[in-house]
Amino acid sequence: MDATSGYRPSATWRSLVAGKEVLKKGLRRSIGNGRKIGVWRDPWVPSEVPMILPRPNNIEIENEKVHELLTEDGIGWDDGKLAARFKEEVCTRIKSVPPDVEQGEDRWIWEMDSKGVYSVKTGYRCVMTGVWRQIDLGLDIDEGATMRFWKRLWKLPITSKYKVFLWRSCLGIIPTVEALEHRGMNINEQCDMCNNEPEGVFHALVDCPELQILWVMAKYDYSSRVYHTNILEWLVVEAVEWSEEQLASLAVAIYLVWERRNTKKFASEVICAEELWQRVERVMEELQTVTFTEDRSKSEPIRFKWEKPEYPYTKLNIDASVIKDGGGALEGILRDETGACVGVYTHSVQYPNDPMLLEAMGIRNGLDLAHKVGSTHLMVESDAKLVVDMLRSPYDKASTLNALCREILRFCQNFQVVNFNWIPRMCNFVVDFTSRKARIDRRNVVWTDSVPLYLSEGPLIQSSPCSPGDKAVQ
Ligand SMILES: [Zn+2]
Repeated sequence: MDATSGYRPSATWRSLVAGKEVLKKGLRRSIGNGRKIGVWRDPWVPSEVPMILPRPNNIEIENEKVHELLTEDGIGWDDGKLAARFKEEVCTRIKSVPPDVEQGEDRWIWEMDSKGVYSVKTGYRCVMTGVWRQIDLGLDIDEGATMRFWKRLWKLPITSKYKVFLWRSCLGIIPTVEALEHRGMNINEQCDMCNNEPEGVFHALVDCPELQILWVMAKYDYSSRVYHTNILEWLVVEAVEWSEEQLASLAVAIYLVWERRNTKKFASEVICAEELWQRVERVMEELQTVTFTEDRSKSEPIRFKWEKPEYPYTKLNIDASVIKDGGGALEGILRDETGACVGVYTHSVQYPNDPMLLEAMGIRNGLDLAHKVGSTHLMVESDAKLVVDMLRSPYDKASTLNALCREILRFCQNFQVVNFNWIPRMCNFVVDFTSRKARIDRRNVVWTDSVPLYLSEGPLIQSSPCSPGDKAVQ
């Protein structure tokens, strides 16, 4: 925790770095080469409760580092130096753990992540059985509490991409290695960050040893995480007592954790976990500014331009196009009330080759996507007037298009509200952009976890095409 003077350190940040909070939460320095650990400043001596030792009067150097207490070759403790500084009992403790030369750099470790954590969880769950009526394995919390939690989540004063991500993490629908294996993909990989455990959702976003520093540095107390094994359970049971800001910050934090994981996995760049909480605070600050400017722009009327849906609606824009040598391309983009993209897909099909049929199929696929990301109120926009008319006032004449439309209307029962609107083609050009790509790619791609960058920010971004690449999940 040498991060004393990072990017605009806040007062809270400083007080945390100062110490006590950190100690309470079970963090200890693990010694590698001992060059970064302060003998009198860091909790490095093995003990039940991490502690910082008082400096005796005969030692004048305040910022002595632990490597100065090692033998010259760095692989053992120098008995004489230890004895000059510590009581015998402390020396014994220190000598019980030899410096871990192979570890190299010194690291923070979390005392509870060694063995203790699972027994703590098991014990806690036994005690709580009576309280959680439906306890079993997996998701086991009473329904009322869960509903109250969802309501609270959707009202949080943050951009919906963070809310949607938290919501999806709660339901376990992010494509971790483990989740992909469940879908039949043979991946056989451990968590990319710790290389030590299977990468489940809870592990990847909360429980990975590599992340513990984030929770310890956080402005809020997230220590109740150690009693739980999945995010929904944790939040439904514990977040009742949290402030809005604490819950909102958690949503931002796990979003950044996932982004960090993807950066490592796909771009091989490592963002230091010790920087994460500062990033969370920065996002929280920025979000306040954004909310302010968005509110002002709402009063400007916009004509013939794509418009954001009103909360709680998400808006689905569909476009389909015929491909000259057969079949067609379907695409859809789903955006929330802030204009942020929450899902996008492009499909190509060999059949049909009819624009209206393709449009109807595009809408059907779009509804599927909207259902998957959890929309309850959906506004569908299409520039195919005939299809929109048929969906608005269905009639019984038998035709392929009509059959497709009736199927669409049946699927609409999965939502609370679905509206169909015709819009002029010129308002649909974002979708048109993805459609040109689909024709080139001729492959079926659905993004729901990580929306490709060029679509993820703002309603009408035009940028050069980039490959769907690694983040595409089918
Ligand atoms: Zn891990």
